[in-house]
Amino acid sequence: MSGDGSVPAKGGWSTLTDKLVRLGRPSGTEPGFVNAPVSRGSTVLYESMDAMRARSAQRYEHELIYGAMGGPTQALLEEAIAAIEGGRHTQVVSSGLAACTTPLLAFLGAGGHCLMPDSVYGPTRRFCDSMLRRLGIETTYYDPMIGEAALDALMRPTTQVLFAESPGSHSFEVQDVGMLARVAHGHGAKLILDNTWGIHVFQPFEHGVDVSIQALTKYPAGHADVVLGAITVVDQADWVVLRDSVVQLGQYAGPDECWLTLRGLRTMGVRLERQSRSAMTVALWLQARPEVARVLHPALSGSPGHEFWLRDFTGSASLFGVVFRREFTAAAVEDMVAALGVFGLGASWGGYESLVLPTTGTVSRTALAQGIRDPSMSGPALRVHVGLESPDELIADLEGGLEVLRAASA
Ligand SMILES: *Cc1c(COP(=O)(O)O)cnc(C)c1O
Repeated sequence: MSGDGSVPAKGGWSTLTDKLVRLGRPSGTEPGFVNAPVSRGSTVLYESMDAMRARSAQRYEHELIYGAMGGPTQALLEEAIAAIEGGRHTQVVSSGLAACTTPLLAFLGAGGHCLMPDSVYGPTRRFCDSMLRRLGIETTYYDPMIGEAALDALMRPTTQVLFAESPGSHSFEVQDVGMLARVAHGHGAKLILDNTWGIHVFQPFEHGVDVSIQALTKYPAGHADVVLGAITVVDQADWVVLRDSVVQLGQYAGPDECWLTLRGLRTMGVRLERQSRSAMTVALWLQARPEVARVLHPALSGSPGHEFWLRDFTGSASLFGVVFRREFTAAAVEDMVAALGVFGLGASWGGYESLVLPTTGTVSRTALAQGIRDPSMSGPALRVHVGLESPDELIADLEGGLEVLRAASA
């Protein structure tokens, strides 16, 4: 591997923490509490019809108009996320999945065409194959490692959205986002990126992304107690299109969720610093084990798209994949998972706690005839999320698990 991939070279974790201490705090001149209150409300009272008309014209600003259009707690969170993503406007929505589907509905229309990476988050794929198809929008899946000429050939006059997710869910391909932006913009399409893994360590708008998505459920909330998403744009015209769709769809985020996420954000820098470093320790340990065919961690050489990670990222998250040798069965991996005591079994990630999730068999692939591209990726696999526990404890747990894996396969 090239250096300790968990430590950002520029824009490091302490820079992030310095920002997170200040972002999204109330700016009142009156002395008061450090933090903003949880502001709950539906109706906003106006002094006159004139005041009501004037405020209603501000629906593209973060003005308090009506509860469903967003309140003051949400506005502070939006300000913080926009700063972390390096964008101009953020819209917080009810879940990370809503943050994926809402811009698709905003920027696609009937008869339109969407390009999706084969490695995309499963529920986003389902939305394309079900809801978008029903609305007369066609989706083509592309190899996330596709080259420029091949991608260019997939673009149609009707292509309105090129979607990316880097690294990909479960298989962790890091995409060449700069190239994707060139191709998308060359054909008048928008580039939408699910940047959940890359929070802070990938600055989407510096690489030509038009719309960046965050599942705030993951590291920003950070405590496995909130479901929330964010959509960020840098261009004013894109913001008008997005915001109109959000209002029409009635996308709303509860103030308690927004407040909890603001609270989680304060420690995100120190959590990420520890978790990404521990994840690298665990990933390197796994890579040296005889049961393991390969570790899919963007900061490790040999992981798909590692060269783009080196070029574009300033650090890494604490979520990666491990593929076992093909002599081990999926059933034996399930026995291993059952034997783990520190790692929990569960969906989602980005919380303080470590998790594993068996992935082979649940991953859909259609762009590549042979399924997952590479034979060394075709064994049973686990997605590993490293939390705040010590790497020693995590490694001891995995060591016990691997013993069970071997025994179950003997
Ligand atoms: C979890 C996740 C989502 C969805 O977020 P939810 O808040 O769980 O709906 C979207 N994209 C990626 C990459 C995710 O990991």
